[in-house]
Amino acid sequence: MKALDELTFDNRFARLGDAFSTHVLPEPLDTPRLVVASKAALALLDLDPAVAETPVFAELFGGHKLWAEAEPRAMVYSGHQFGGYTPQLGDGRGLLLGEVYNEAGEHWDLHLKGAGMTPYSRMGDGRAVLRSSIREFLASEALHALGIPSSRALCVIGSDTPVWREKQERGAMVLRMAHSHIRFGHFEYFYYTKKPEQQALLAEHVLNLHYPECREQPEPYLAMFREIVERNAELIAKWQAYGFCHGVMNTDNMSILGITFDFGPFAFLDDFDAHFICNHSDHEGRYSFSNQVPIGQWNLSALAQALTPFISVDALKEALGLYLPLYQANYLHLMRRRLGLTTAEDDDQQLVERLLKLMQNSGVDYTLFFRRLGDESAALAVARLRDDFVDLAGFDAWAEQYKARVARDGDYSEEQRRARMHAVNPLYILRNYLAQNAIAAAESGDYSEVRRLHEVLSKPFEEQAGMEQYAQRPPDWGKHLEISCSS
Ligand code: AMP
Ligand code: MG
Repeated sequence: MKALDELTFDNRFARLGDAFSTHVLPEPLDTPRLVVASKAALALLDLDPAVAETPVFAELFGGHKLWAEAEPRAMVYSGHQFGGYTPQLGDGRGLLLGEVYNEAGEHWDLHLKGAGMTPYSRMGDGRAVLRSSIREFLASEALHALGIPSSRALCVIGSDTPVWREKQERGAMVLRMAHSHIRFGHFEYFYYTKKPEQQALLAEHVLNLHYPECREQPEPYLAMFREIVERNAELIAKWQAYGFCHGVMNTDNMSILGITFDFGPFAFLDDFDAHFICNHSDHEGRYSFSNQVPIGQWNLSALAQALTPFISVDALKEALGLYLPLYQANYLHLMRRRLGLTTAEDDDQQLVERLLKLMQNSGVDYTLFFRRLGDESAALAVARLRDDFVDLAGFDAWAEQYKARVARDGDYSEEQRRARMHAVNPLYILRNYLAQNAIAAAESGDYSEVRRLHEVLSKPFEEQAGMEQYAQRPPDWGKHLEISCSS
């Protein structure tokens, strides 16, 4: 276990030089205080959990203090936003404080969001509000606990700093961690600004540090791109299987590592709705729940364009062609598991699609349906779940198909079925209304609800005593919350 001043820095991105980032110091928050910290994320840095409660912790992550070895840098990138190219974006309110490595030799970027203005702030104030910082913190750690790759979050620091959004709010900072904060938009920036030397340096950097195994391949850059395609297909399959809607899949919000990244107006589905749009500024539904799948491919094509100096167009096209079949295979694999199936049959895709259509038409709670399906034998579970459906004949027909399929799948006890299904079907997810309750309490100075919710979501598959209220459908007020995009 380390103390806070014992972190070991190795600032590899900063060493790429001034073409890639600008040195900027964090702008401190007034009276910084700990809102919530993640023990699991602290452990990734070998930090003793007790350090989070010390005043120096809030000072470090509230922008007042800095390690001597930290080299805070605002990264430059660009990207396609809602389909159109924006030539320059960058860390407008975030700073890469530095890269540290733990005793296992893993490097982690420490990235402070809400740290003040940078040369890339454009019209923004460089700040993040408490509400959006809490949402990012909870989502990062909850996705990780569900087994969905994501950037991590170490802590949220609250403050008295006034920040104007639709109304006056208070500034906060969230400390985000990832093995890299490099986005598709980094490659696009150097491609469209026609800086081939820097683009080559960037490609080498990513290959050497994050895809070293691709070095062994005859065409290392192509192997790396393929791997990025694969990771994104797997990631988006997990989002779709677990009902996660990202909301702003611009290419500057897509990680080169294939992790969930840059949280805005995201949401987990309550009722299943393939057309759900969580971002209220997304009038055309470009980033609706079901569109995440083709948009994943669109974004990979944008990255492929930026990689044309290194890889032939034919090879890039071939690699892009892997995306949909891989997505489909991963998604089906996950959905079979969610249905408690251990074998594969040709009709399984159709079994899933029929179920989703029925759920869509009846507004069935996506998470609770699968959890309850595993509570009992298939016959008892479908009999109990039947009441949630409007089209009873349709559901009955599906239930017959499902029971027959389960019978062919194998001979196992109810206990085995429950254990297997509950291990993949969470009881607790980050519902918008739960986040909203925690935020309302935190805004009035009570952080206990954020902390409790974070704890519950860190074990989403385990039924926790006394936590029934976190495993409920939303109350009426919490059903269609408009999550502000200003964050
Ligand atoms: P996002 O929609 O959060 O992915 O942000 C898009 C771009 O706007 C990025 O370059 C951000 O750094 C920048 N940005 C977002 N909010 C702010 C803010 N409050 N101040 C400065 N820049 C911001
Ligand atoms: Mg962003």
